[in-house]
Amino acid sequence: MNVLVINAGSSSLKYQLFEMTKEEILAKGMCDRIGIDGHLKHTPVSNGKPVYDSDIPLPTHSEAINVVIEKLTCADYGVIDSLMEINAVGHRVVQGGRKFSESVQINDDVLAAIEACVPLAPLHNPANLMGIHACMDAIPGVPQVAVFDTAFHHTIPEYAYVYPIPYKYYEKNDIRRYGFHGTSHRYVSAKAIDYLGGNAEGTKIITCHLGNGVSLAAVKDGKSIDTTMGVTPLEGLPMGTRCGSVDPTLISIISDLEGGLSIDKTMNILNKESGMLGVSGISNDFRDIESAASKCADDSGKGDSSSASARAKLALDIFCYQAAKFIGSYVVAMGGLSAIVFTAGVGENSSYVRSNVCRYLGGVNVCIDEDKNSTAPRGVFVDLTGEGSMAKVLLIPTDEELVIARDTKLIIG
Ligand code: ADP
Repeated sequence: MNVLVINAGSSSLKYQLFEMTKEEILAKGMCDRIGIDGHLKHTPVSNGKPVYDSDIPLPTHSEAINVVIEKLTCADYGVIDSLMEINAVGHRVVQGGRKFSESVQINDDVLAAIEACVPLAPLHNPANLMGIHACMDAIPGVPQVAVFDTAFHHTIPEYAYVYPIPYKYYEKNDIRRYGFHGTSHRYVSAKAIDYLGGNAEGTKIITCHLGNGVSLAAVKDGKSIDTTMGVTPLEGLPMGTRCGSVDPTLISIISDLEGGLSIDKTMNILNKESGMLGVSGISNDFRDIESAASKCADDSGKGDSSSASARAKLALDIFCYQAAKFIGSYVVAMGGLSAIVFTAGVGENSSYVRSNVCRYLGGVNVCIDEDKNSTAPRGVFVDLTGEGSMAKVLLIPTDEELVIARDTKLIIG
């Protein structure tokens, strides 16, 4: 059975084609700059054919899907003979609202429910819907499944997800904390449970998805009981360009400071110009920030004391401190700790961030093995637990696409 996994953003569309008997990736790629000019990078994985990496007009998501199918099936770059070999499509859908606690096959009712969640995720759900409609048009009759970022967090108790604002907004408008990155938290927490012996009962795991978007989850007995993101992915830790949790009054303060800026434009500052980029003034990419921070003057005054490197260091300090603070709060929420998991772009690749988050955790008797941490190879599971640590510290590469493919296979069967 071949499953095409689609992750559609507003101007991008990532895809992977899986052969599910062996869970093998046949091809993967990304359409970029959809609606602007268009670029496709397509990588055949299973047969050694060349990579296609070129500008190509992509006016809409429909054209993007058609180009992807053409590349998947063509003689030069293809991995299957025809689109008949695509048996099902699995879609990442960011916001499933209160309705979806698990993945579902897409039908008219499901489409309407995803549409109804648009006010809760105006940046994401419309793009996900465009991806679904484009696939329905390009490969009609092929079953499609929606896998929701929010679904794994449906087990969070009411006292952790209801905002202390007038209750009517929750009751009438579904305004509550939902959490995101659920497929990733689910995948890596299940891997950690396997490693801890396979029995979810009694496990208390904190999964740290540190990528461009950042969220932590407290996973007790295999179920999410709290997470850092809220009604939107803006809440929680500072991220590449997002501020994370701040005093809400900042919205009116920044608006006033900018001469009466509209709410939309002020929110844009908090979503796109804040976080690591906002503090460092350099980049939203942790590699750039770490590189700038590494030149920062040490306590003895040696090194670069320019504001650029000092601010890069400050951005990292804020990030690691906030991550550690949330970890501490989740130890309390779960009444203990079995393991901390680092995953996603930063969590998997930045030994600096892992080390500096764990530096704060002496108070809860957790430590990391610095040698293992600094030499951890890319892309593999590594136990980084330091000697005497009361909980495991694990590096677990995430694989959200595989989760989507597995759910799709399970549902379509
Ligand atoms: P997304 O949330 O878009 O899926 P990823 O999980 O791919 O993002 O993470 C992207 C982030 O990972 C970027 O900020 C990037 O800088 C960071 N990253 C990737 N490699 C490294 C590295 N070697 N060191 C530090 N950060 C890294």
